[in-house]
Parts: sequence; C-alpha cells; structure tokens
Amino acid sequence: MRYIFITGGVVSSLGKGIVAASLGKLLQARGYKVTLQKFDPYLNVDPGTLNPYEHGEVFVTEDGTETDLDLGHYERFLGISTTRDHSVTTGRIYQTILERERRGEYLGKTVQVIPHVTDEIKRRFTLLAQREHYDIVLTELGGTVGDIESLPYIEAARQLHYELGPTRVLFVHLTLIVYLAATQELKTKPTQHSVRELQRTGVQPDVLICRTPRPLSRELRHKIALLTNVPRNAVIPVVDVPNIYLVPFQLRKEKLDEVILRRFRLPVRGEPDLSRWNAFIEGLQRPTRTVRIALVGKYVELHDAYRSIQEALTHASGWKAIRLEIAWIHSEEVTMENVGRLLRGVQGVLVAPGFGPRGIPGKLAAIFYARTRQIPFLGICLGMQMAVVEFAQNVLGWEGAHSTEVDPHTSYPVIDLLPEQRQIVRKGGTMRLGLYPCEIRPGSLAWRVYQADRIYERHRHRYELNNAFRPALEEAGLHVSGNYPEKNLAEIIELSGHPFFIGVQFHPEFQSRVEAPHPLFSAFMEAAAQHGSC
Ligand code: GLN
Repeated sequence: MRYIFITGGVVSSLGKGIVAASLGKLLQARGYKVTLQKFDPYLNVDPGTLNPYEHGEVFVTEDGTETDLDLGHYERFLGISTTRDHSVTTGRIYQTILERERRGEYLGKTVQVIPHVTDEIKRRFTLLAQREHYDIVLTELGGTVGDIESLPYIEAARQLHYELGPTRVLFVHLTLIVYLAATQELKTKPTQHSVRELQRTGVQPDVLICRTPRPLSRELRHKIALLTNVPRNAVIPVVDVPNIYLVPFQLRKEKLDEVILRRFRLPVRGEPDLSRWNAFIEGLQRPTRTVRIALVGKYVELHDAYRSIQEALTHASGWKAIRLEIAWIHSEEVTMENVGRLLRGVQGVLVAPGFGPRGIPGKLAAIFYARTRQIPFLGICLGMQMAVVEFAQNVLGWEGAHSTEVDPHTSYPVIDLLPEQRQIVRKGGTMRLGLYPCEIRPGSLAWRVYQADRIYERHRHRYELNNAFRPALEEAGLHVSGNYPEKNLAEIIELSGHPFFIGVQFHPEFQSRVEAPHPLFSAFMEAAAQHGSC
C-alpha cells in the first residue's frame, strides 16, 4: 500500500482536486488499483449544511454522505464510487475525539492536538486501505500550506512518511507560477516561499506541480528544482487549459506517472491505457453539432454550485460530439413576461435542484415555457417538484397549488414533506440521502432512456410528490414513470404529448462519469439537438 499526499500552496482554488483526480486516473490507467480521499480543515462536520456560495456544490455519495465537490471529480475521473470514509473534515475528527473523551476512553489523560488529533488523522488516512486492497491511496489535503488549520494534517502526513518510509509515502505539492504582465515575466518566488513553508513543517515535496499561464522554460524549471530541492524531472508544469479533462494528458506528457512509480519502486510497464478517455476528448474537440441548454437556478453566478450537472452535460456532449453551450439563467430574474426573451434560442431547459422559496416564480415560468413550447425539459429534484407544481397550477387549474416548502398553507400541497421528515429539527445529515432503487414503467420515456426496469440513483431532499394528488395528475397527462416501490414514492415524472419532458426526484448528475456518461443526460442532449434552435 502506497500513499500520495497532495498539498496546495500560494493561493487557493488552484484545482487541486482536478490535479489529484488526473494523477489518480493516470496511475489507474497503468493498471494500479487507486482510490482518492479528501481531508478538509474546516469545522463543519460535513459540507451538507454549507451554502453553495461558500463551497460550491454538495456532492452526495452512494451511502448518503454529503461531501465536498472534489469527490465528484474523483468519481468522474476514476469511475469509482466513494463513501463516507473518503471525505473527512476537522469537524468529524474532533467529533470522534470529543465523543471518545466523554466516554472516558482517554483514561484520565490530557487530550491534545499532538498526539490525539494527529493519531486520529493518521488512523483515517489509512482506513480505506485497511478495508480494501489498494495499490495507491491519494489523499488531497484541503486548504493552503501555511494555514493554521491545516497544520495537524501536514504533521500527521509527515509522521506517516517517517513511519512507512520514502518508498511508500510521497508528497506532491501544487503551486502557482505568477505571470507579471508589466514585465512579461513568469515569477517563481511565491512557489519558492510556499515550498519553504512546507519544508518548515518537516515535509520535503517529492513532486512539484506548477500551474502556470504560460509554458515554463527549461531554465526556469531548473531554477525551481534547485531552489526547492526537488529533482528536475519532478518539477511538472501544468499550463492552463480550457478543459479539465486534458489535465491527465498534460501530466502524462511530463511522465509524472513514471516519476511516481519509480519513486515507489513499482514496475513501469508499457503505456497507460487512456483509449476511452481519448475517444471522449475527440468528441469534445470535434463537435458536429451545437446545442444550447438553459440552466435555470438561483446560484448561477457560482458555476461550481452546479458542478456535477455541468460535468454530466459535458460527458454527454463529448460522447455525442455536440458542442455544448450553457446559458446560465438566474431564476430570480425570470418572469412570465421576459421568459421568452431570456430563453430565446435554447434547445433544452434544465431546472436545477435547490432549497427554499427564493427564485421559485422564475423556475415555474421557465417550466411553463418549456412545456408549452415543446422544448426538451429536464427537472432535477426541486426542478422536478416545480414541474409538478407548474402542471397543477396551469393545466389542472389548481390555484395556489404548491410545495409546502414554498407555501406551507397551500390548499393543494402537491409536493409535501414525507411523514418521517416532519419530526426532524436537526439540519445536518437528516434528508433522504444516498442511493435508492427506482422501478421504471415499461414503455415510458424513462424506460427508453435507461433501457432498464430497475435503476439506482442518489437522493438529497426532504419533500416528495404527494400521492393524494397522483391520480388527478396522471389523468391529466403527467405520468409517474419511476417509483420507489418500498414506500411508493414518485421518482420520475413525464408528460405525454411532449417530445421530452422529464423530471427526476433524484440527482442523476452524481453518477455520470467521463468513461460512462449518464443515459438521462445523453438522452436530454440528443432531444435538444433534435429540437433544433427556435
Ligand atoms: N428543497 C427540495 C427538498 O428538500 C429539493 C431539494 C433538492 O433539489 N436537492 O425536497
């Protein structure tokens, strides 16, 4: 079992998750069994209670853990499924320690950051490898080197390196090369400082990945190597690319996989197999059609809030050789009056997940427009719930019909809390979360899309379609084509007499992978391409 720790320096948001996932992919493509995990230094127990503006999307795993969006990159790049143990926060570490302390398990000892916190971190670093065999476990350490709060993680990783030795633990440090426009120069000083900062904690990076806006000259690479004590061939430039899916190729070009395997004394045989990955990239780079999709949501200023949706659309577009254009539509700006103008020219409307009443009228207007103009529509979670509300209000004429999340006193609560959700007051980790089965009605649109009678998809919500209204909705043409049999919950709705109108209570975006695009997004993109522009 080998461990790679990935730290970041100079600034945050350098794309550490994507670099980690790309490196993981490359090693996997060489036939090694690889997994990735993320350790975040904040005190929230999990990111489930964080506003998307704080930290981007909350990614949900099969086992129903609400995690950091980087776990989404790991799953999409490697085609793996992560679990609760792949995502750890300082909040979780302290929660464990404090519960242990209250049980009296420290036997009267003083509980301290060193050794108790670092020991608990080390236990979790190695936990995945104890449960299942992996050749290499990559651990991304959140935050930036030099932050007070990430110190215990770096210290724990340093100790693991000391205990297991340099052929089993390796440090990769990601930094930024700064470009000064005034003098047209690349500057390495921030990189040098950030490595010094890391060295001060007792960690010597084995590999430096330098994000840079322009190619690095040989001289500059040698200078960085000399001043940071990193071998020359392990100073790896990653020039900014328009597409994150090209990063594995950039790392391969610099032979990072070989550098790492040699350090680990693992055999380097043949070439990594990236043939499927390549086929996907080919489609992205040589599109034969263009499709414009409106993504309607209330966090559109921050695209990371819809990261998995964006990537799922991208996967479908690559495999279908479609150029994807996303029109980011802020739901708070949409009204019945301007919807025609705002959505002009789009070939598909995707209404995003969300919480609370803000932006709901705009979502309803967008759905009305897609429904009545026969534009392909995909509603996800709240987007599906609002499709039911729109239909109830405008087709069935039920005035004020709503979700009780938006209007608790509506006389037509077509979307309502599950009975078991009514008692819940604590917010963290209490939604309907994770993987559930769904039975698909034969012959339906969903059935043609999935080509299966039973599927499994991930959930994150409290509200559901209210079964009391199901017969009337069905009779008027809004059909439930997917159902969770055990509790008789509507999971998929679709509209008869429309080319493609589908709403899903679950989150299909969490299961789309680069090498296995999700059928629902593929079908939606295809329907949009068929629709032509209007
Ligand atoms: N707010 C809705 C619910 O809790 C939808 C959640 C979502 O879109 N993820 O049911």
